[in-house]
Amino acid sequence: MTDSRYNIIVIGGGVVGLGVALEITRRFPQQRLLVLEKEDRVACHQSGHNSGVIHSGVYYKPGSLKARLCVAGAAAMVEFCREHGIPYQVCGKVIVATEEEELPRLEQLRQRGEANGLSGLRLIGPEELREIEAHAAGLKALVVPSTGVTDYALVCAKYAELIRANGEVLTSARATGIKRNASEIVVETPRGAFATDALINCAGLYSDRISRMAGDEPGVRIVPFRGEYYDLVPERAALVGALIYPVPDPRFPFLGVHFTRRIAGKVDAGPNAVLALAREGYRHTDINLEEMASSLAFAGFWRMARQHWRSGFGEWYRSLSKAAFVRALQRLLPEIGENDLTPGGSGVRAQALKPDGALVDDFQFVPSGKILHVLNVPSPAATASLMIGKAIVDMAGKNLGLN
Ligand SMILES: Cc1cc2nc3c(=O)[nH]c(=O)nc-3n(C[C@H](O)[C@H](O)[C@H](O)COP(=O)(O)OP(=O)(O)OC[C@H]3O[C@@H](n4cnc5c(N)ncnc54)[C@H](O)[C@@H]3O)c2cc1C
Repeated sequence: MTDSRYNIIVIGGGVVGLGVALEITRRFPQQRLLVLEKEDRVACHQSGHNSGVIHSGVYYKPGSLKARLCVAGAAAMVEFCREHGIPYQVCGKVIVATEEEELPRLEQLRQRGEANGLSGLRLIGPEELREIEAHAAGLKALVVPSTGVTDYALVCAKYAELIRANGEVLTSARATGIKRNASEIVVETPRGAFATDALINCAGLYSDRISRMAGDEPGVRIVPFRGEYYDLVPERAALVGALIYPVPDPRFPFLGVHFTRRIAGKVDAGPNAVLALAREGYRHTDINLEEMASSLAFAGFWRMARQHWRSGFGEWYRSLSKAAFVRALQRLLPEIGENDLTPGGSGVRAQALKPDGALVDDFQFVPSGKILHVLNVPSPAATASLMIGKAIVDMAGKNLGLN
């Protein structure tokens, strides 16, 4: 016995689920669409706890989904914000090399950015860096003019408002069971059971679990990496003009702690990348024994731990020691001191891990009959969300019965 019948259900009211749902309502307004979100509002997790950066696409491997969808997505995001009156600013950023060994990687980033179609990239020396960011120090920097900032919680609220014109967004509706047979899929929630022809799983930190709930084997495990921020005290916020980033370590999918001037004017520093002890573990004290046990039972977890234990300990240490966190920041901004920073917010990244211990680098969408599982959409997925929606409908629309 089901409460209603739909053509398509999307699980997850984050920026990706909403981006996909928005694309469906725009292209197929006659389809009955429902978004199910377990929290009492949209964007409660990654999409409401991020840095708010509209990434340019400079970092990603040419030809990858991340590169293509980020570059096009950034332009689409700027246009969306402009059209709907959401605050945004294309402020540009600098990526700063502070050690000799980083210089070849900075040049590689420039080449990558150009291969991805970015214009205006420029390598500059320390004097010109100081003209852009008066307090930053480094040997060389890459100027990336197309980077911007916005507020993705506002973007999500607008996506949801637009979806509601042609579809439904139901909150406090956690998917607790999925049954499928030849003719339909039924999603059970505390607010009723909903039958659908097709399903898209955009459950972020729980996307592997939803996949298993639907009877599929995701092949990856979602590992939660907490990113913690410090806020610059208002009297010292002028130390940062816009966005100051280090040269990232190519072994990890994270960008390294950096400075971000948010769209509302506040400046923060971070996020680090600490293995969280719960999928929605926003604080050190948030521990979920069942989720930890399931991570530890996954062979890929131990392989990852063997490969990355040294940097993992480094992140833990910087997480527990403010002095160590500040030392990492001083490489970019020598004047910053412990008293300039107060504890800020945090977010938890959903990162897919393979059985061989490798972190999945690119976005990953996995079809299974009339279901599509979105299994890896870490940063820059907020930037790319409109284009992820388009790509998913282009790629899987026919299979899902969208026409
Ligand atoms: C610290 C941090 C900084 C970041 N900075 C940036 C940035 O500057 N720029 C950028 O582009 N990207 C950034 N990202 C990445 C970006 O935020 C994410 O890639 C994006 O938000 C992922 O969106 P999502 O919809 O997949 O996930 P989420 O926003 O986590 O949404 C998934 C939703 O599914 C819901 N859900 C889970 N299980 C169920 C269930 N059983 N039933 C119903 N609903 C369920 C959850 O409640 C959640 O709302 C950052 C991420 C983090 C964590």
